[in-house]
Amino acid sequence: MTTAPPPPDAAASAFAALGIEAPILSSLAALGYEEPTPIQKEAIPPLLVGRDLLGQAATGTGKTAAFALPLLQRCHRAIAAGEKKRVRDPSALVLVPTRELAMQVAEAVHRYGKGLGLSVLPVYGGAAMQQQLMALKRGVDVVVATPGRALDHLRRGTLRLGGLHLVILDEADEMLDMGFAEDLEALLAAAPAERQTALFSATLPPRISAIAGRHLRDPVTIHIAREKVTAGKVPRVRQTAFIVPRAHKLATLGRVLDMESPTSALVFCRTRTEVDELAETLNARGYRAEALHGGLSQEQRDRVMKKFRGGKAELLIATDVAARGLDIEHLSHVVNYDVPSEPEAYIHRIGRTGRAGREGVAITLAEPREHRMLRNIESLTKQKIDLATVPTVADLRARRLDLLRGSLRETILEGGLDTVRVVVESLAGEFDLMDVAAAAVKMAQAASDPGERDEQEIPAYIPRERPPAAPVARGVPVGKPVRGAPAPGGAPPARGAAPSVSKTGARFCRVFIGAGRQAKIRPGDLVGAIANEAGVDARAIGAIQIGDSFSLVEVLEEEADKIIAALRATTVKGRRVTVRRER
Ligand code: AMP
Repeated sequence: MTTAPPPPDAAASAFAALGIEAPILSSLAALGYEEPTPIQKEAIPPLLVGRDLLGQAATGTGKTAAFALPLLQRCHRAIAAGEKKRVRDPSALVLVPTRELAMQVAEAVHRYGKGLGLSVLPVYGGAAMQQQLMALKRGVDVVVATPGRALDHLRRGTLRLGGLHLVILDEADEMLDMGFAEDLEALLAAAPAERQTALFSATLPPRISAIAGRHLRDPVTIHIAREKVTAGKVPRVRQTAFIVPRAHKLATLGRVLDMESPTSALVFCRTRTEVDELAETLNARGYRAEALHGGLSQEQRDRVMKKFRGGKAELLIATDVAARGLDIEHLSHVVNYDVPSEPEAYIHRIGRTGRAGREGVAITLAEPREHRMLRNIESLTKQKIDLATVPTVADLRARRLDLLRGSLRETILEGGLDTVRVVVESLAGEFDLMDVAAAAVKMAQAASDPGERDEQEIPAYIPRERPPAAPVARGVPVGKPVRGAPAPGGAPPARGAAPSVSKTGARFCRVFIGAGRQAKIRPGDLVGAIANEAGVDARAIGAIQIGDSFSLVEVLEEEADKIIAALRATTVKGRRVTVRRER
């Protein structure tokens, strides 16, 4: 680690430096934003002083906040200053191509503007007209609408645009692709001429430039500049991406990690709230995950890094800001829980693995709407990111069997089977040896089975190049509706454990015992069995973790063999159970 973390209020001051004021700053702090994204840094100041803006930026870059924060602050100011009599006609109109985006943007505006007392209404086709009519009649400050439905309301006289201070066109290229060009013209013509206008688009074809030329006045132009990246600078790592709807990201991450079994992985998230949530969920899933973000004190940060470097945690969940300057050797995996907003950030992140000639793996989870950003990254790096399908329950089972096969091989090679050989011999007369072995494998498999947790399939996402003409919800998997992501919890899977060292310098290792909560095992049962059967002092026993179908007990390294042999020769809660070193 080479840099000090930013103080906890750094985020607030970074946004404040752009001109954002108190009530919005607290919303941003609550959301865990650590610093503005590049488009926010460039777009917020000119928008706050009332300039028009033409911004080329894709989804996922933090574009929504880039226009929503100034929009909220300007509307709030105008209303608070009593610049005009407070008629409840909208002060701002945001036009977006789809109803899904209308809902998303309205929700974001609402979240950022908590505490300002402004009302936001999404208006889109396919929703009950009556509700929208009533809300519009009551009066709203910010309308987020698809062009077709906005025009419909305009023509009925239920949406009045005479009081607009601000119009935002979001994803303008998609609105044109969806045939909304005329609707846009009609809406812009109905808005006051002295309004402020911002247009965002991922691409700037001539049709967009033409609209900008007609409707923007002396706009500030922003194109998030890309550093030149030479092919040699891009690290050679295996790059894979999974396209998954937001609701399935957590489950996907868990499953991908189970398949990859990383020894030390850095997982990047956008916000500290996300970092905390992920760390908690992954810990519940049996991983040893540590959270690192700008909200930690130096002391907490040092503790986290010590655990990660010392192999006591296999996953480090961090924001970009917190991971900046971290010097970590030998990362087996880098995981992007979101597509980074800048391709350069992606390159920087994945460059942390695959060092010193070792194989590195970079895994990215992208929401369907972020698919396009992967292409931007590919074209910049001139390297392919493989789109993979989320491992299925069957894949996972196959992988577990693979791991089990590996464990069996190791156990055979380790030897020391004499104490159990007698069991095999006693069955050999009665059964085929192959069946005896198969039954033993089945029991071992059941002992490490994480149970119901992974039984739900994650739906496959079928990417499309372009949204269809009708306003279909975006980012929703094609196919039948599915239930939400499997909840975390249940038994943690058996994970590899590095031996720990106690304060007195004694070395501990973990012992796997094939019985857990389902067999009504309590820590006292294990301590009792170990102390009585192996005749060791209770001080030889460390932390005990009880899962649904197995338990893990830390024991003194020098006593481990004795304890394992003793437990194998006895019963726990009246049952014979699998006992072995946890690898
Ligand atoms: P957008 O490009 O507006 O769709 O934003 C993409 C994602 O980035 C959303 O989940 C936002 O909540 C998140 N986001 C936007 N700005 C920031 C920021 N400054 N720090 C962290 N996350 C952000």
